[in-house]
Amino acid sequence: MSAATSILSRVRPHLLDLPGYTPIEPPEVLAARLGLAPDAIVKLDGNENPYGPSPAALAALSEAHSYHIYPDPLQHRLREALADYVGLTPEYVVAGTGSDELIDLLVRAFASPADAVVDFPPTFGMYSFLAGVNGSQVVEVPRRDDFSLDLAAALAAARGASLIFAASPNNPSGNLLRDDELMALLATGLPVCVDEAYAEFAGRSYAALVRRHENLIVLRTLSKWAGLAGLRLGYLVAAPPLVELLLKAKQPYNVNVAAEAAAIASLADRAHLMEHVAALVDERDRLGAALAAVEFLQAFPSQGNFILCRVLSPTKDRVSGLDAKALAVGMAERGVMVRHFATPRLRDCLRISVGRPEHTDAVIAAIEAVAADLIKGGEGS
Ligand code: PMP
Repeated sequence: MSAATSILSRVRPHLLDLPGYTPIEPPEVLAARLGLAPDAIVKLDGNENPYGPSPAALAALSEAHSYHIYPDPLQHRLREALADYVGLTPEYVVAGTGSDELIDLLVRAFASPADAVVDFPPTFGMYSFLAGVNGSQVVEVPRRDDFSLDLAAALAAARGASLIFAASPNNPSGNLLRDDELMALLATGLPVCVDEAYAEFAGRSYAALVRRHENLIVLRTLSKWAGLAGLRLGYLVAAPPLVELLLKAKQPYNVNVAAEAAAIASLADRAHLMEHVAALVDERDRLGAALAAVEFLQAFPSQGNFILCRVLSPTKDRVSGLDAKALAVGMAERGVMVRHFATPRLRDCLRISVGRPEHTDAVIAAIEAVAADLIKGGEGS
């Protein structure tokens, strides 16, 4: 037995079969392949914010003088600033290194290995990935054709489960959880994590309800509206006894000093950042209309900073051989990165993040160029 085999035989067996999280390709890799400068790439595959961080956050990063000191494990200043932002008090708030870390913490807090975690695909892949890392079962309750929840199936799946994740707006479909759906999930008594990573683009949040529902956990992030995806700063709001427990169970120094400084400065500069959000919401409308005008695309309405669209296939005779994957690959060859998912439900779809106006123009130009090439190819054959 080789050394490598023998060490793996000691790893917890469920990890050996883990499919792994499908990462997105860094733009520098595509730029190098195409022989372009990295900033020539139009990166619309990660739901990031093209306006970047607030200048106040960048100033706070360069002015902070405490990078040699460990961060505050109880996150006093940060929790106060976050609580003020969501209209609660700090005992309702815990911050994490991205909301991904808090998804992991919730899974480990509520689901023993072999317990079940419920989610509603198509949805954010981190819930099932992190439940899998924990050795938990994942019970996936597919959404209906309009991406709303199949409530009867959800409630049946909840029996015997330990934790429910529901994103609102949902990534990648863009639709919101409805009040009646949330109330039915909360009535199960299970912990229900409503992931509101994109709440600012929807102008709607359930955060205030954590005062009344001790099994509601609302997950938020500064990755999207505040343009801090690379610094990793997420938070959750929940009933104070749960927050107290999570503060004890998390890694003490989970939020680094840089992320804390940038987050506090961003929250103080929220009016400016909300102008970026407003620009992205306007651009979402323009991108949605432009995609809908392409004859072989069906764009779904979205409350997030992204739009899911279906590539209608088989397409009209004019555009033969076009499918979602070919379109994504062809767009990437033209320097425009969008997201294609390989799952059966989304195989014929693309998710396109909302960018600046010139990014919308580049998306439409790339789609038209790929389609034109395919027509040319088709005529030659
Ligand atoms: N939740 C949803 C629904 C997301 O789409 C994402 C990011 N793609 C996250 C959470 C992760 O956010 P963070 O950067 O705070 O880890």
